[in-house]
Amino acid sequence: MTEHIKKKTILSGMQPTGSLHIGNLEGALKNWVDCQDDYWMYCCIVDWHSLTAEYTDTKGLKEKVFQMAVDFLAAGLDPEKCAIFVQSEVIEHAELHLIFSMLISVPTLTRMPTYQEKKDKLDSYGFLGYPVLQAADICLYNADFVPVGKDQEKHIWLAKDLAQRFNSTYKKVFQEPEALLREIPLILGADNRKMSKSYDNHIPIDFTEKQTEKRLKSFYTDPNKQRKGDPGNPDKCPIYLLHKIYSDNPEKEIAPPCRTGELGCVDCKLKLTERLNKSLAPIREKRQELLKDPNQVWDILATGRDRAKQRAGNVMDKVRSAMKLSYRKKK
Ligand code: SF4
Repeated sequence: MTEHIKKKTILSGMQPTGSLHIGNLEGALKNWVDCQDDYWMYCCIVDWHSLTAEYTDTKGLKEKVFQMAVDFLAAGLDPEKCAIFVQSEVIEHAELHLIFSMLISVPTLTRMPTYQEKKDKLDSYGFLGYPVLQAADICLYNADFVPVGKDQEKHIWLAKDLAQRFNSTYKKVFQEPEALLREIPLILGADNRKMSKSYDNHIPIDFTEKQTEKRLKSFYTDPNKQRKGDPGNPDKCPIYLLHKIYSDNPEKEIAPPCRTGELGCVDCKLKLTERLNKSLAPIREKRQELLKDPNQVWDILATGRDRAKQRAGNVMDKVRSAMKLSYRKKK
């Protein structure tokens, strides 16, 4: 990863939740893998962010970070092409967060949609400042782009705003990051809500084939289709959403026989099980290989950290210099 070659930079982050599920894979990770040939990628496991919701019980965090790193690699992120690292290992994230926190007002933060949504449950200073830390994550690498879905554009707005404020207050140091917008497929879980580990409705990548089959059997389907022969509506069914990703021709092969009743939900789920397991097989195989040598994974994180620190350190030198925060005698 020699950065003398002219390429734009992408910063991506994910909170460590342990091993990933197919919603994470299809919603983010595959896109990161697609980007790694064309951009300098910084893939950050944002452990400090996870403290905003869970700061008391941190004993499982190390294992969650490890499992996430394993899934990143198993899904195809190449440590030669992208720096994979843990946020708290690059202390400069905290430094820039602090500096940015001086440039934004409390009312602006309290108006942020995520704060409004969760303020009754999470009212810590850390949670209020979460978007500022996110902005620092992005600007610390002078990222050109952050890959997000349309609904997350607001997150980038704050990073851009803080970059502008810093540049106009002190000196131009920061690139103004842009959202790299992409289509995120809708993936619902077993209970027809958004697939999420916290709802326990997900299909983890590290499930066995049998576990995947069992989980898919429990999935919600169109409630009007009770048995084979009943006409169904695939547009109301999370199984059909998954067929759209994992089957070659679902519009012809799945939707019409579902509608006529010719295809029953049991068979439909079995077809999906087979295809999903086939698609996940290489990732699962790579996972098993990586788990045989955990030190190799920790070494990759250490190398990623060093690369990230180098870039972050250069940016922070410019930040301190722009702010005249330098108290060493001249050589
Ligand atoms: S046949 Fe398939 S698409 Fe139709 S309702 Fe059943 S599971 Fe869903």
